[in-house]
Amino acid sequence: MADLRKEIEKRRTFAIISHPDAGKTTLTEKFLLYGGAINLAGSVKGKATARHAVSDWMEIEKERGISVTSSVLQFNYDNYCINILDTPGHQDFSEDTYRTLMAADSAVMVIDGSKGVEAQTRKLFKVCVMRHIPIFTFINKMDRDAMDTFELLDDIEKELGIATCPINWPIGSGKEFKGVYDRATEKIHVFSDTEKGTKEGEDQVLTLDEADSVLLPGQRDQLADEIELLDGASAEFDQELVDKGELSPVFFGSALTNFGVEIFLKHFLKMTTPPLPRKADVGLIDPVEEEFSGFIFKIQANMNKAHRDRIAFMRICSGKFEAGMEVLHVQEGKKIRLSQPQQMMAQDRKIVEEAYAGDIIGLFDPGIFSIGDTVCMAGHKIQYEGIPTFAPEHFARVRQVDTMKRKQFVKGIEQIAQEGAIQIFQEYNTGMEEIIVGVVGVLQFDVLKYRLNNEYNVEIRLENLPYEHIRWIENREIDLDKISGTSDMKKIKDLKGRPLLLWVNSWSIGMTMDRNPGLELSEFGR
Ligand code: GDP
Repeated sequence: MADLRKEIEKRRTFAIISHPDAGKTTLTEKFLLYGGAINLAGSVKGKATARHAVSDWMEIEKERGISVTSSVLQFNYDNYCINILDTPGHQDFSEDTYRTLMAADSAVMVIDGSKGVEAQTRKLFKVCVMRHIPIFTFINKMDRDAMDTFELLDDIEKELGIATCPINWPIGSGKEFKGVYDRATEKIHVFSDTEKGTKEGEDQVLTLDEADSVLLPGQRDQLADEIELLDGASAEFDQELVDKGELSPVFFGSALTNFGVEIFLKHFLKMTTPPLPRKADVGLIDPVEEEFSGFIFKIQANMNKAHRDRIAFMRICSGKFEAGMEVLHVQEGKKIRLSQPQQMMAQDRKIVEEAYAGDIIGLFDPGIFSIGDTVCMAGHKIQYEGIPTFAPEHFARVRQVDTMKRKQFVKGIEQIAQEGAIQIFQEYNTGMEEIIVGVVGVLQFDVLKYRLNNEYNVEIRLENLPYEHIRWIENREIDLDKISGTSDMKKIKDLKGRPLLLWVNSWSIGMTMDRNPGLELSEFGR
């Protein structure tokens, strides 16, 4: 028990989110470097190599230069066992990010200091705030000309509705970047352009007086003014507010030159929590006291094209996992043996023999798991809260080009829907002939098209539909035929046969409610 507690308490599981190009990959590489996972950071998870080693099934990632799927990395540092969950850096995959955040205990938000919170990723960051987990901000690329520091913080506070608390403060930026001032110790960590990819760099820490010779004329006065202003204006550090996700500790640095990364890592590991109890139907499940349990938060198909495998990612929430153990898959009510779990270590996948609460393991999935499913010990059945599906915002009718390939088409589209990348609907009253696809971000249409073609050898045509609003009908006893809607309304059903309504205009929703007293509508498919 003591061992179990020790193992679990050293776990730190967090998601890392950013706009594309803000420096998430570079920062992750540097983290790994400190963990001693690799010698030269660039060789591990560079754009051309490892990112695709994990997800090279998706050419779209390369074509568009974005990461569409998330992967998991584990490394040890300073007696901590760290699990990093990567998330796609595009707002069209914000639902995927949300699911990944369900498996994380905190989040690190990487922001490009020259750009601030970028419009196209606002949604992604908002999703992060929605989870109410601690959010840490790393403002990157300070070796490039950055926006005014106060403006950057203002941007975060305004855009995301979360207070900020700078733990350190940058001195200059770009060519004039001299380092960061640590507010707690009142010392300056002097910037030196560490040789790319190595962690040995001198970390020179000076007092303000000592640093005078390093700073440019005027920088010390400016720093004094800014700190005074900051002390008066900004929120004080408050661990409780950080825990609730209401206050974000902010750090400045430059991942590429490896400056500020270790300072960040050290503070971050102290400010974030080990796995905490999680809510299930029977109450809170303590990670240490309870037997093994976990839930599936992501399903990824065809990670390795040669094997056509499907991996279900499970977050372990309590206890210890051992390879080969027999567990209960709650949603199916079946006992299964978890024989071949995998874990990602840098770019390799390896078989895990044991894992603990806080860890993420990849389970071979012959098509039995759905997102949100609970896995636990048969003698102690529990069920974690499900993961809500976002209401799709774009709809299209899907047609096969070659109607002879009906079977592959249905199989492919159903599998992709099970992974949660798309939602599929049928016309009310007809079968699978007419399929309507709903997505949260339009890029998912491209992914669908690409994957059906590439993995299932099925070519499709998508015809965009004008609908933008969707509601599930909660009271199922209602006679769908009798619902009288507006002229822009369409009746459909989802994969589970649940009835839904689609509209082009938002005001039609209210009108439909008025015309059908007793009709109960919901924005989530539960
Ligand atoms: P991601 O898309 O968020 O994973 O971003 P990457 O880590 O791939 O970085 C995008 C680009 O920015 C790459 O060319 C990096 O070398 C560069 N970059 C990352 N961090 C820094 C930094 O601190 N300073 C500068 N100047 N460039 C950086």
